[in-house]
Amino acid sequence: MPTMPALFLGHGNPVFALADNAFTRGWSAIGLALPRPSAILCVSAHWYIGETAVTAMAQPRTIHDFGGFPRELFECRYPAPGDPALAERVRALLEPVPVRLDQEWGLDHGTWAPLCKVYPQADIPVVQLSIDATGPPSFHYEVGQRLSLLRDEGVLLVGSGNVVHNLRRYAWDGSMSGPYDWALRFDTRVRELLQAGDDAALVEYEALGPDGWLAIPTPDHYLPLLPLLGARRADEPVTFPVEGFDGGSMSMLAVRLG
Ligand code: ZN
Repeated sequence: MPTMPALFLGHGNPVFALADNAFTRGWSAIGLALPRPSAILCVSAHWYIGETAVTAMAQPRTIHDFGGFPRELFECRYPAPGDPALAERVRALLEPVPVRLDQEWGLDHGTWAPLCKVYPQADIPVVQLSIDATGPPSFHYEVGQRLSLLRDEGVLLVGSGNVVHNLRRYAWDGSMSGPYDWALRFDTRVRELLQAGDDAALVEYEALGPDGWLAIPTPDHYLPLLPLLGARRADEPVTFPVEGFDGGSMSMLAVRLG
């Protein structure tokens, strides 16, 4: 079985689940370009909790974890099955880190909003892995190192967040047609570090300076990148199948490894 690529998806505004734009067409193209995975393991920015947990139910619910959006968005369902065996495999691979087999969460919009474009049939099992907010950045990188061999078993590892995500600067009124200077600089820096394979600098992102402080005011949307870096193989190519900005302060960058 060939090694599966790994993906970071910049998910952005939840309404993209209903949209047809350059970002969502990019997501659709990713799904068509990838070999079909046996399952998807997704680390979402929106399951940022005080422990490591993995969804272990057979039928995860679609979670509408947002407010103030159109009714159609609350009616979206992504009925992909779960994969309790994969959840158990993740738990075993991460030992001795305690991993709770979760029966309550499901698929939050960090997962289903982009996946409903990448895999609109919702026929590939999906498991979510939480981000343990108590762990340092290096912990999330090490989680990816431990899970890397799932890529050889047909599992698509996905991180869903945004490498630049500043909602306080976000132009909800659509008045920003391009990115803020600092947002563009930081996005460019992340790409350069990815291409150079400089994982250490990306893990120690708090040292990247003032642009980084604006791009990452809270770590939740950046951290899903780190498990993917940990799962990266030596000399693996990196490409950016989706790029651009929304609202001036949201990078929609997608990263494909392999
Ligand atoms: Zn988000």
